[in-house]
Amino acid sequence: MSNVTAQNCPSCQSGSISPLEASKNDYAFVECNNCTLIFVDPMPSHEALNEFYDNYHKSGQYLAKLDSKIRRAKKRIRSVNWLKKPGTFIDVGCNVGFAVEAARSLGFEARGIDIDANAIEVAQGQFTQAKFEVRSVQDLAESGETFDFIYCSEVIEHLAELDSFFAALVKCLSDGGVLYITTPDNGHFSLPNEFSKLVDWTSVRPPEHLMYFTKSSVAPLLSRHGLNSVKMPFSFKPTLKIIAKVKG
Ligand SMILES: [Zn+2]
Repeated sequence: MSNVTAQNCPSCQSGSISPLEASKNDYAFVECNNCTLIFVDPMPSHEALNEFYDNYHKSGQYLAKLDSKIRRAKKRIRSVNWLKKPGTFIDVGCNVGFAVEAARSLGFEARGIDIDANAIEVAQGQFTQAKFEVRSVQDLAESGETFDFIYCSEVIEHLAELDSFFAALVKCLSDGGVLYITTPDNGHFSLPNEFSKLVDWTSVRPPEHLMYFTKSSVAPLLSRHGLNSVKMPFSFKPTLKIIAKVKG
């Protein structure tokens, strides 16, 4: 059994963390005894992650079924009834830009950022009417710009550190702005309860995915960042949809 190196849970900050009898790709997992968040421990270093993502080119695979992805993003954006009318929209981790195009076609002033320069080049070539940038959300937050709708799909499970990312997301929200996050749902009814039986699931893939959320284990993270109005609608697929805002 491996030792736990993490000081605190990245979601609830509890120091009560136990190792799990499960590993994949030579990475070990631990579970927070308080909120049940499961995460990789020890986390890969910054250098190791940079090296991994230097060889990571998924934009080709995302270009497949582009039309159905635009339709799905439109449906998600339209499902948020907290917004009375379209305003400014940003997709954080926009990949090849299908959600940005979806928002633009719904009347939003839509932009996308991603740290993957290759994906941004493809996005800008594909959707010439929207604006795309190679940029981190932390950098965007420093500019002071705010947005009415921040979309962030399948990003948070890739991060080794969540607090600076969430602080930046919240800083980029306009007054009454809405944050729409998706991440794999490790607590979904269609999946086994025990993580040791779940490790074969395709979504369990360290070092690409480092944190494994459920509705209850993501809640403390949202609340610590002031996102105290939260909806997590039912989903037939094991995708956790989180719609959140700061209560005005
Ligand atoms: Zn926790």
